[in-house]
Amino acid sequence: MSSVIVMQLRYAFRLYPDTGQQTALAKAFGCARVVFNDAVRAREDARKAEQPFPKAAELSTRLITEAKRTAERSWLSEVSAVVLQQSLRDAESAYRNFFASLKGTRKGPKIGPPRFKSRKDKRQSIRFTANARWNITDSGRLNLPKIGAVKVKWSRTLPTPPTSVTVIKDTAGRYFASFVIDTDPAADAERMPETDRTIGIDLGLTHFAVLSDGTKIDSPRFLRRAEKKLKKAQQELSRKQKGSKNRAKARLKVARAHAKVADARREFHHQLSTKLISENQGIAVEDLSVAGLARTKLAKSVHDAGWSSFISMLEYKAERYGRTLVKIGRFEPTSQTCSTCGVKDGPKPLNVREWACTACGTVHDRDINAALNVKTAAGLAVSACGAPVRPGAIPAQREETGSHGFPTESRAA
Ligand SMILES: [Zn+2]
Repeated sequence: MSSVIVMQLRYAFRLYPDTGQQTALAKAFGCARVVFNDAVRAREDARKAEQPFPKAAELSTRLITEAKRTAERSWLSEVSAVVLQQSLRDAESAYRNFFASLKGTRKGPKIGPPRFKSRKDKRQSIRFTANARWNITDSGRLNLPKIGAVKVKWSRTLPTPPTSVTVIKDTAGRYFASFVIDTDPAADAERMPETDRTIGIDLGLTHFAVLSDGTKIDSPRFLRRAEKKLKKAQQELSRKQKGSKNRAKARLKVARAHAKVADARREFHHQLSTKLISENQGIAVEDLSVAGLARTKLAKSVHDAGWSSFISMLEYKAERYGRTLVKIGRFEPTSQTCSTCGVKDGPKPLNVREWACTACGTVHDRDINAALNVKTAAGLAVSACGAPVRPGAIPAQREETGSHGFPTESRAA
């Protein structure tokens, strides 16, 4: 593959902290600011006294560990230590950038020395790195140390586990979480070398997916087991008396089982999407918008199977690994058209699993025929050299893609 650059993907999502969490965040913003300012002051004092700059470890001991034991800084222990450490690192890198700029080794416009931060600054922020014990909960909240599980509005799927998250409060009082994701194009290219294979995928009712090469894919056993447990838990809940203690217990059990199913499904989607992306250069799928299928049996199947989240995994993986994903609209009559001769053979009720083409006589498995049609409709089947025919069909996430700078310096050392 061509040039080797680290691609950083930044994904920002709106956060909705409750009042308690807002107070905790305000505390964290404030403490991070104080530690940053203390670090700048320590540097300034050393410079004025013509003494060497205190080392990072020394500052950490003095401005965090020891400061917590003093009356005027004891409240530092109310926020996550990692936030404070990160603030020190931010001060360090601000100085590093400043000196590099002075020496001319840093590209871009000249930058001044770090300035004291103020509570009146337009943007308040704190950063949690990978080791900061933050995580995304089963229910999709951002769980931050000493702040709690904050509600997130997920507008898209995170492609890979983020390396850090910055929590921002803007002037409008809105909160955001900005996740950083690192990709390694060289490793990506090595992991998924180019191939000349293409495939069409159809969502089956009897199977999770059917491929144009005839493969029928079912949910894996670990997902089916989780689904079975959920069903059992739901049945138990329905038998419990309303308002009873046992009912509350049963409800919790259902909630947990739900989360397990979601996890298992996500895992399955990851495994399958990675396999399909790995084995094929061009992938065609039906774009099944659940809205358009409302109240049909297929809609329930599409929804239950999490088809749309599966498609979005295929999308970002295709982009990341240089594959072409083509989504074809629902208007293509994939189950009605003969994949051999192209004749439109009329609608087939859902219970018809196999049919013979009235024009050419080919006997079709309903789902495999549909998958073949998906592939043809996407233009992937007619390509002579195996190269994808319809480039640019992948919804780009360019606005989040950057190849430089964001918080790399803070992660150095
Ligand atoms: Zn035919």
